[in-house]
Amino acid sequence: MYQLRGHHLFCLLGFRGMGYSKEFAENMKKVHQHLRANPKTPIQIIEGPDHLCEKYPNDGTYHCKDRNIYERDTQILNRLGIEIGSVLTWEEIEMHIKKHAIPEDIHTYCENCSWRSYGVCEEGIKRILNDEGLWEIK
Ligand code: SF4
Repeated sequence: MYQLRGHHLFCLLGFRGMGYSKEFAENMKKVHQHLRANPKTPIQIIEGPDHLCEKYPNDGTYHCKDRNIYERDTQILNRLGIEIGSVLTWEEIEMHIKKHAIPEDIHTYCENCSWRSYGVCEEGIKRILNDEGLWEIK
């Protein structure tokens, strides 16, 4: 079982293999590929730093405990109708995204994120709405 924070549910949709560092990207790729291959994997939604934050590089500013990141988590979880502490499979999370999210949510909730301008996270939500699932990372 993975533990994930709210906004990372969207980040996983946009993941194309890039990341803050090689180690961060490799860890995220591992989680991403596992969820793509095993959509029934249980995920516990937690508050604050999670399984992906563990590999955030320690050579820069650690933003994982910033108030605005917690706010982004809360807003996205509220949007998806998912509560902190709940355990859902990745498949169920995709169903919540399909039911409640729209691609423009990335502009609403992720305004300050440096990855937003790539457009991949919006594309990731579109894929879920079209039942295409997570992008295949080679
Ligand atoms: S824009 Fe940033 S915070 Fe939002 S889903 Fe994409 S990578 Fe995550």
